[in-house]
Amino acid sequence: MKRILILLTLAAAACASPRQASPPAAVVGETPEGPFSVVLFIGDGAGVAYWSAAKLSASELGIEALPVVGLVDVEASDSRITDSAASATAYSTGVRTFYGAIGVGPDSMPVQTVLEVAEFRRMATGLVATSSLTHATPGSFAAHVPNRNYHFEIAEGIASHDIEVLLGGGRRYFDPAQRPDGVDLLTRITRRATYVTSAEEFRALDTNTVPRLVGFFSDTFPPPAGSREPSLAELTRGALNVLSREDRGFFLMVEGSQIDWRGHDNAPLMQVISEVLDFDLAIREALHYQRERRSNTLILVVADHSTGGLALHGDAMGVFRAHYTTESHTAEMVPLFAGGPGAALFGGVKDNDLVGRLLLELVRSGGPDRARAVSAESGAEWTISSPSRPH
Ligand SMILES: [Zn+2]
Repeated sequence: MKRILILLTLAAAACASPRQASPPAAVVGETPEGPFSVVLFIGDGAGVAYWSAAKLSASELGIEALPVVGLVDVEASDSRITDSAASATAYSTGVRTFYGAIGVGPDSMPVQTVLEVAEFRRMATGLVATSSLTHATPGSFAAHVPNRNYHFEIAEGIASHDIEVLLGGGRRYFDPAQRPDGVDLLTRITRRATYVTSAEEFRALDTNTVPRLVGFFSDTFPPPAGSREPSLAELTRGALNVLSREDRGFFLMVEGSQIDWRGHDNAPLMQVISEVLDFDLAIREALHYQRERRSNTLILVVADHSTGGLALHGDAMGVFRAHYTTESHTAEMVPLFAGGPGAALFGGVKDNDLVGRLLLELVRSGGPDRARAVSAESGAEWTISSPSRPH
């Protein structure tokens, strides 16, 4: 049994990371830095080549403002090459599981997710995606099924939670007229929420005054970046406004879902860049929020895997083209970027399930400051155990 000790000095170092100051006027009863909160960004398929493609067309990316960088080994429990379900489940539960699994371990039994831990701690929660909300990545935070194709069951899982913000596609899986069992999940999730179904309705809202928000912008899957409205950045800004009303902090997962789809399609470079920049602009919204409103917000950017074996080839004229080696996922490690409280824990080379366990532990503890205080009181070090793995 290998145990990984997370020394408290690391957490302390993370807390001491430089903060961009000047918070706005604080709301009564809250500190300017705010309660510990997490924004987890998952770029589906966003391997290093995808970020490199975006860098070809942008002088500076949002991720460049995140001081901690790492690499993540994302394999599944039964396959060297993983998929969005197994990898998102590793991030959401800290357990490495099989290809296609949603919120269940290798034995197909449910495993508690970081969103569920956040709910237990009465933090606000949110899921935002540029895919159906029942797709593998968002699904892995709020459902427990052994097969990612069970969209109607995943919708049930999402509806069984008390999630304050749901923004994405996949309305049909909640709609009683389109569900095989006729169950009205739509009413269940929108009953106490502001509910919008178009970019116009969404943009007309003052999201600072909305306590709960559900937005479906497509019956199934939203269109690609460029023709997709609202943009992921707009959705992220709205989600942060709604969630920051909560004085116990929040956990928000934002997925750039379609980077992977451009890879599967072996799409032209401009389409790849367009998806990654759409995702990066959403990260900028969180950076702005962290800088201007709540510095006690951890921003973590990961990928579930890379797709297509994308390489960037340039000619003598300096024109770049995308070259692909496959239409499937690939085995290489993926980049991680982090900033804010606890960020230093995520640097270096890590397995995706360890990233998940660190995230769970931070949310469970109420952030690195709290984890340090509790450990100091009990005289114990803050430890996170790692399952044994053959060397
Ligand atoms: Zn894929």
